[in-house]
Amino acid sequence: NNNLFKTFAARMQARGDADFITTRDGRRYSHADALAESARLAGALVALGVSPGDRVAVQVDKSPEAILLYLATLRAGAVYLPLNTGYTGDEIRYFLSDAEPALFVCRPAVLEEARALAAETGCPAVETLGTAADGSLMERAAAATAFDDAVPRTDDDLAAILYTSGTTGRSKGAMLTHRNLGSNAAALVEAWRFTPEDRLIHALPIFHTHGLFVACNVTLMAGSSLLFLPRFDADVIFEELPRGTVMMGVPTFYTRLVADDRLTPEVTANMRLFVSGSAPLTAETHELFAEKTGHAILERYGMTETNMNLSNPYDGDRRAGTVGMPLPGVEIRIVDRDSGKEVPDGEIGLLQVRGPNVFIGYWRKPEKTKEELLEDGFFITGDLVTRDERGYVQIVGRDKDLVISGGYNVYPKEVEQVIDEMDEVLESAVIGLPHPDFGEGVTATVVCQPGAKLDEAQVIAHLQGRLAKYKQPKRVFFIDALPRNTMGKVQKNELRQRFDATYR
Ligand code: ATP
Ligand code: MG
Repeated sequence: NNNLFKTFAARMQARGDADFITTRDGRRYSHADALAESARLAGALVALGVSPGDRVAVQVDKSPEAILLYLATLRAGAVYLPLNTGYTGDEIRYFLSDAEPALFVCRPAVLEEARALAAETGCPAVETLGTAADGSLMERAAAATAFDDAVPRTDDDLAAILYTSGTTGRSKGAMLTHRNLGSNAAALVEAWRFTPEDRLIHALPIFHTHGLFVACNVTLMAGSSLLFLPRFDADVIFEELPRGTVMMGVPTFYTRLVADDRLTPEVTANMRLFVSGSAPLTAETHELFAEKTGHAILERYGMTETNMNLSNPYDGDRRAGTVGMPLPGVEIRIVDRDSGKEVPDGEIGLLQVRGPNVFIGYWRKPEKTKEELLEDGFFITGDLVTRDERGYVQIVGRDKDLVISGGYNVYPKEVEQVIDEMDEVLESAVIGLPHPDFGEGVTATVVCQPGAKLDEAQVIAHLQGRLAKYKQPKRVFFIDALPRNTMGKVQKNELRQRFDATYR
């Protein structure tokens, strides 16, 4: 039986009464508690008619029980399908009709709406799960006959469907197998030296690969523990750092921490590792963090479809502005976006990855799967990268965000970096907009530092002599904030739509 839960269960049994998940308000599940409670929840799933292979769609606020529900779903041989808590009714309707789950678990407050959506989309069962170990699902679990086993699964059976973040278009359901999740968790435990003694400060959402699989599967695989926080709150983080050993975060966590006077070598003395991912960490933040704490943030790169692919080394240089090298078992190939031939080190190309971590396809999208998952097993990530002479990979940006102006490739990040050098600039995003002469016109959107004043001519003047003419924006727009999704990713689609008419 290659059910991933079997692997986790062996670790959990060994860890027994040691902490698995704790919260600030005094809730605690030991590993043994989690085994027992996930068996009851699995019993409830079975009683609700969830069969092996069925999808269990879950849109709930973060709680330890949501992780136990993930474990219960694995036990039942079903497919865990977490949904962003920010999704509205219309979005949920799309996901329910696309995934056809056997059960939809929602927040207690939206039960009526959830029932209506389930009825509309043919989903046979709706249950609730709250953040205080409450909700109808917990009641059913308490009454259910515990399902102490794990349904037999092969390596290639689905363990989860995770929808992508929808940064570049509509979210796609990535089908992830027991092998995909298990192999990646094992690779990360090894690469990041996780042990049962680790205590991970967990402030990420749990509907995304970062907070769910990277953080929780690694913890389960290593038999370590999680401190579950509802969200990132700097005051709470500073209180907990002395009791933690590892933190995983998106770049905005780190930009907020470095801006805070409480960030010192003393407060981080018990920590052994800070991990960043999901979006680019600036070299500036990396360097400031190191200056203030003595810790080099370890940046890694991954995506919903593949879990983690690349990581800076645990031992050895963690190079700012890079995402390191392939994890054990992961192969990469960097190819020219037009010819498809591998490019030499130092040149920009499209990143392809292959390994036991790579998903088996997009749910009910065979055409899209065929386009992106090649016959030789390599997956086209859609990210443009370069590799330096030491093997460190740098993410240049998304292929979809590349601007082609007058036949020349303009990499937005290169332009953004020069704009961001200006003291008045907080951040910027460079996009391509339809242009009658150039095909696309390079366009900058700029957010100023609080209180700072800047005009279009000043930005253009700054770029003179620093960037070739064809890379310089034809227009510069000032905006209040860059549009970001919950993972802190800049949504350039939104910017392109907003300024679409600029050159038309
Ligand atoms: P969609 O595929 O729906 O447009 P998405 O690509 O943002 O959304 P995710 O799978 O959550 O969905 O994100 C993966 C992407 O995040 C990667 O392809 C890459 O562009 C970006 N990413 C992840 N880690 C890093 C990193 N360390 N530096 C830069 N970008 C990163
Ligand atoms: Mg993507």
